[in-house]
Amino acid sequence: MSAYEIEQHTYDVVVVGAGGAGLRATLGMAEQGLKTACITKVFPTRSHTVAAQGGIAASLSNMGPDNWQWHMYDTVKGSDWLGDTDAMEYLARSAPDAVYELEHYGVPFSRTEEGKIYQRPFGGHTTEFGEGPPVQRTCAAADRTGHAILHTLYGRSLKEKAQFYIEYFAIDLLMSEDGECTGVLAWKLDDGTLHQFNAKMTVLATGGYGRAYFSATSAHTCTGDGNGMVARAGLPLQDMEFVQFHPTGIYGSGCLITEGARGEGGYLTNSEGERFMERYAPTYKDLASRDVVSRCMTMEIREGRGVGPNKDHIHLHLNHLPPETLALRLPGISESARIFAGVDLTKEPIPVLPTVHYNMGGIPTNYWGEVLNADAENPNRVAPGLMAVGEAGCASVHGANRLGSNSLIDLVVFGRAAAIRAGEIVDPASANRDSSKASVDKALARFDRLRNAKGSIPTAELRLEMQKTMQQDAAVFRTDKTLAEGVEKMKVVAGKMADIQVTDRSLVWNSDLMETLELENLMPCAMATITGAEARKESRGAHAHEDYPNRDDENWRKHTLSWVDGADVKLDYRPVVVDPLTPQDQGGIELKKIAPKARVY
Ligand SMILES: Cc1cc2nc3c(=O)[nH]c(=O)nc-3n(C[C@H](O)[C@H](O)[C@H](O)COP(=O)(O)OP(=O)(O)OC[C@H]3O[C@@H](n4cnc5c(N)ncnc54)[C@H](O)[C@@H]3O)c2cc1C
Repeated sequence: MSAYEIEQHTYDVVVVGAGGAGLRATLGMAEQGLKTACITKVFPTRSHTVAAQGGIAASLSNMGPDNWQWHMYDTVKGSDWLGDTDAMEYLARSAPDAVYELEHYGVPFSRTEEGKIYQRPFGGHTTEFGEGPPVQRTCAAADRTGHAILHTLYGRSLKEKAQFYIEYFAIDLLMSEDGECTGVLAWKLDDGTLHQFNAKMTVLATGGYGRAYFSATSAHTCTGDGNGMVARAGLPLQDMEFVQFHPTGIYGSGCLITEGARGEGGYLTNSEGERFMERYAPTYKDLASRDVVSRCMTMEIREGRGVGPNKDHIHLHLNHLPPETLALRLPGISESARIFAGVDLTKEPIPVLPTVHYNMGGIPTNYWGEVLNADAENPNRVAPGLMAVGEAGCASVHGANRLGSNSLIDLVVFGRAAAIRAGEIVDPASANRDSSKASVDKALARFDRLRNAKGSIPTAELRLEMQKTMQQDAAVFRTDKTLAEGVEKMKVVAGKMADIQVTDRSLVWNSDLMETLELENLMPCAMATITGAEARKESRGAHAHEDYPNRDDENWRKHTLSWVDGADVKLDYRPVVVDPLTPQDQGGIELKKIAPKARVY
């Protein structure tokens, strides 16, 4: 592979990704005095986090009583008892400090009359351990919270002198002879040069893989690149079958209408004008959790009560709310509704449909962000030199279903935790370890093979085949039949990667090659998702299996691990962490409060 020259860069820490998670990790690492680089394929403030609208959850109690125990309980219940209890406690307890830290960094939160951070209600966030009314826990900067956070964190990272490598595409992880992660190989998109980033700690913050599906709220850049790199390194992915459908994607475009719209008083109706959520979730109605609302909408459509000429979607009403509220609290979605649905939301309902939105699964980590090379015998074994944070990671705080506004808080809490941990275990005075020649050659060979791929299927065509298969066979509702067929279809689709066609051979701004590299990252995500779903014979959170409609804690309260090699997927399982971090007698949560029970809203 000597045809390529590789420029060397040496750091203590290399973060791949500059979304909310990557930037919070970068900032924290630099603050710890570690020499830190952040590599990103898009300009930092164009990462998908910029699109986050509704807000970030933390029990600040600005708009009524709240506490971290209630937030933790809601997260446990939201996860349908698949989340790891230690990580969920860490999230809920750290959340208020993490939000105040953002405020002090300069995030322009919306304000209450008294000048406190404004908080709105979001689905599944309640009081009194699910017994009380909904709580206003979601801190918001109008409906542009992600935008505000991302810009602030980027500015702060620059202040701390973190080094940014912008429009560099990370190709693969590099490893030492004995399997410790030693950095990444990256391709500089604007001049075609290759770069080896040597690091004592590599942090994957590459976001989700929504683009494995046909209709997704995620940006086109959400292609699971970190997950792909991990799979190729022979490490497992976790709980990939849990894919969140957001109830309110705009019909047709998939563009998101934030749950904050229902938080501000919006509601859903069917073709009979009925507020059907009152029937399914009498207590929390339109503010039940996302998996529940998406399933109810799908049931209404299936039973012939969808709206529109094809009776294939649902209406979201905001037209009863005062126009001033809409202009103040939801300006961004007023614009989205106009552009993408041609609707003036002060006058008409918005046509909506459940749309792929979030990946609960990802790269398994502990609550310090350290990647786990886990299997059934070694459920907590750490993969040295490697961390994962944000939507790419799986700590796991979202388990089988994520609550709205719990992702943004996950990004900053675990981005910060990873930096604290790295401060403890990375020694700036030590020398970097060498990457094995074999791992560099392997990454280069794959890059070169795709660059020169002369097969018969264009990337866009194969990507569409994958997306349609996933949309059809790994959907809101799943059956043994659709999943078994889906696995077989996806094996054929993944097998066609060997026949991929790339037409542009250049190295400068070659979007054809970049999209092919992205497709080769999406493919293992799709394979792990559908194979894990086929194996899981129960319904839990976002995994709604019609042949097994109930949750089965005895057999299935466990995390799926998947090793993907081309079209082959090997599965194993690891136990869910059930013990909280803090024992009850030392101020921790009362254990019987978080014991599994039926999940009703
Ligand atoms: C429309 C929308 C609205 C949302 N609203 C909310 C909300 O209100 N509240 C909430 O809590 N959650 C919300 N979410 C979820 C949340 O925003 C995301 O889960 C979160 O922003 C993901 O952040 P991240 O840092 O993990 O990744 P991203 O923000 O997706 O960033 C990924 C980064 O990785 C980089 N990268 C990826 N691959 C490579 C590669 N190969 N080489 C180099 N760099 C690479 C990219 O350049 C980018 O910088 C929303 C999601 C969507 C899609």
